[in-house]
Amino acid sequence: MAAPTQSEIDLLAAAPVPAGKLLINGQWLEGEAGETQVLSPINGQVLTTTATASQADVARAVAAARASFESGLWSRMAPAGRKAVLHRLADLIEKNSLELAVLGVRDNGTDIGMALKAEPGSAAGTFRYYAEAIDKVYGEIAPTADSILALIHREPVGVVAAIVPWNFPLMIGAWKIAPALAAGNSVVLKPAETASLTLLKLAELALEAGVPPGVFNVVTGPGRVTGEALALSMDVDVMVFTGSGPTGRRLLEYAARSNLKRCYLELGGKSPNVVFADAPDLAAAAKAAATAIFRNAGQVCVAGSRLLVEASVHDEFVSLLAASAAKMPVGNPLSLATQIGAVNSETQLLGNLGFVADAVKDGGKIVLGGRRALVETGGYYMEPTVVTGVRPEHRLYREEVFGPVLAVTPFADEAEAVRLANASDFGLAAGVWTANLGRAHRMVRGIRAGVVHVNTYGGADNSVPLGGVKQSGNGHDKSLHALDKYTDLKTAWIQL
Ligand code: ADP
Repeated sequence: MAAPTQSEIDLLAAAPVPAGKLLINGQWLEGEAGETQVLSPINGQVLTTTATASQADVARAVAAARASFESGLWSRMAPAGRKAVLHRLADLIEKNSLELAVLGVRDNGTDIGMALKAEPGSAAGTFRYYAEAIDKVYGEIAPTADSILALIHREPVGVVAAIVPWNFPLMIGAWKIAPALAAGNSVVLKPAETASLTLLKLAELALEAGVPPGVFNVVTGPGRVTGEALALSMDVDVMVFTGSGPTGRRLLEYAARSNLKRCYLELGGKSPNVVFADAPDLAAAAKAAATAIFRNAGQVCVAGSRLLVEASVHDEFVSLLAASAAKMPVGNPLSLATQIGAVNSETQLLGNLGFVADAVKDGGKIVLGGRRALVETGGYYMEPTVVTGVRPEHRLYREEVFGPVLAVTPFADEAEAVRLANASDFGLAAGVWTANLGRAHRMVRGIRAGVVHVNTYGGADNSVPLGGVKQSGNGHDKSLHALDKYTDLKTAWIQL
């Protein structure tokens, strides 16, 4: 798609947003539990409403998913057939990409430049990746005795429930929905209450692409109502989730209290970005470190939120970083000039400011930002914030802010760098900056995380898995490994 102009964006942003409904069995329905107001973080004003799905609505959605799965219309369709439908869906996402991006920005506050790339752009690519993958996944023949033929089949698991967050709803939604559908499952999706609109549009496009009714259902509403009902369902086979640690823990409890559904959780991080004095280019590393934490106002699960810097270059690096961050414009996310858009909600903004206040009480020093940013639209914004002198015992070191707040800590040598990097309950992502090849590999081995970037931060591709260790969760999104969550192995043991 050609780069959009500001006036194309403004035109779409002025359009009224129709009220969101539930999609159950191919029908758009009101929610039995009423509706939820959607506030735009750009200006704090009501954007539209979404339907609130009751427990009964959720049960109907799960029943529709089960019935569609049992019908075999999708689950037993030849993989090449599902592939054609998912490619059509990717085409439709691309065709509607500007509309989807603008709608998403109005709903969650991500800056439009990032939304275009990370939301429709990435979602279309993810649907294509799994569309292409699924007719190339084979079963196995086990090396058993000659008198036996043991076949290992890969089958869809049945009904998949996906609960997703508000920071990148389309991208993260697609990471779950695309492999689940490609493998032949039926899906019930629960978007975040502050970012449902693009996923409702995706569902509309899925129907248009030919995903049969009941195979992809969407129930909107608050986590404690709609999400809880879905997670407590006795007929969901697999639950996939991206969100906060406390909700992840609840999902495991709900699984234990209901049908022991398998739960795969991606629970964020407190990812260390480790800069050695021998980094190939300190200025480039500082710019990347600023981007690693401040893009999307820090609302990125893999954000490099702990900066560990070798003591000998600490002051120089912090000045370079602060100078770089100060140049990132905070403002209306619908403007093409903006690099740091809105914080998703007032609650989130107040939480971010609370972290900064606690860090200062703990002895941290604010070297940049630290305050709410005032933007002419109103709404919820925050200055990019850098706090130095943060120690492992401080709250800002240990807990995920999910906002534009960077904690900086010096280290003396490689051994201390590894120790500090691993001094966290999380283990999602990390970065290492060094020109020493041996050290780079030692750091990759030493840091416990799902991904370690070297001399860059945050690069990704559908071909590589994303998942956490420790309390960052379990299971992987993306790559062929994601299919493990959405398929069961079945052995056929045949006496010859
Ligand atoms: P965040 O802090 O990113 O908002 P949450 O874990 O609260 O993270 O939200 C992620 C998703 O989990 C959202 O779709 C939200 O509605 C859902 N959610 C929140 N609480 C629950 C719950 N008790 N049961 C099921 N889903 C929930």
